[in-house]
Amino acid sequence: MNIRSSKKMIKVIKKVRAMQKLADLLRREGKTIGLVPTMGALHDGHLSLIKKCVKASDVTVLSVFVNRLQFGPKEDFGNYPRQFAMDKKLAADNGVDYIFAPSHEDFYNSDFSSFVDVEGVTKNLCGSARPGHFIGVATAVTKLFTAIKPHKAFFGEKDFQQFVTIKKLVADLNIDVKIYSGKIIREKNGLALSSRNAYLSDDERERALVLYRSLVEAKRLFIAGEKNALKIINNAVNSIESQEIEIDYVKIVDINSLADIKRIGEKALMAIAAKVGKTRLIDNIVLK
Ligand code: AMP
Repeated sequence: MNIRSSKKMIKVIKKVRAMQKLADLLRREGKTIGLVPTMGALHDGHLSLIKKCVKASDVTVLSVFVNRLQFGPKEDFGNYPRQFAMDKKLAADNGVDYIFAPSHEDFYNSDFSSFVDVEGVTKNLCGSARPGHFIGVATAVTKLFTAIKPHKAFFGEKDFQQFVTIKKLVADLNIDVKIYSGKIIREKNGLALSSRNAYLSDDERERALVLYRSLVEAKRLFIAGEKNALKIINNAVNSIESQEIEIDYVKIVDINSLADIKRIGEKALMAIAAKVGKTRLIDNIVLK
């Protein structure tokens, strides 16, 4: 693909101060600023959020920042896919006006020591599986908000717990940003798009399909009348383990508090995290 064929000029901003000055100017001009935070390696999941943002805002800022703070010491920060030239082209082709792409040093002072800890909703699911992850996420997102000063920000339901955490963060800290969510974008075969899918071998990609299949089966059981969370979970666990996938968690939780539930009422979230080979994947479905 010719990476110089972008439809419009897009400006890349690396420094927090420059971003703040631009945001101030845009706000003085009465423009609505929309933000789509990402770690780059853009795929159709990101693009669906960008399209929503472009529709709803005068100016769309895409942040591309692989946030070291949200990775555990044994996680894939070093290997995380980075493809900035392609991201820039995709962003321009989809209507992004500015990319905010600071380096770690641009973003975090060398003596950085202030962290944002959203309690409660970060306890369960990925919060217990990845200690410190949501402190890293909430701290970075808070800093993106103070750098970019958006009116609106867009998050994918693929990372449902992240979406809930950011909603709680802005409510608790009176941050004047409206939070929107976008549906999970999947391949035709059901696999949820993720930058980490790039790590999967053909065989792993095939085996990973069981994650979505087991979520769909769970929803089918729920709609057929099964309200016992453990029964639905056990059914999914058996299917996933049959593909020799290492389960991190399979849980059914309250859609607001994200705490475990035993009996499903009107609505609940079923969430899975599992390692296919060395790649940790997450997926979820709303049971309703
Ligand atoms: P990431 O670059 O993985 O940090 O993701 C950036 C944003 O894109 C987050 O709000 C994610 O929830 C969202 N996202 C990632 N994958 C998908 C997907 N398959 N469908 C919808 N949104 C997604």
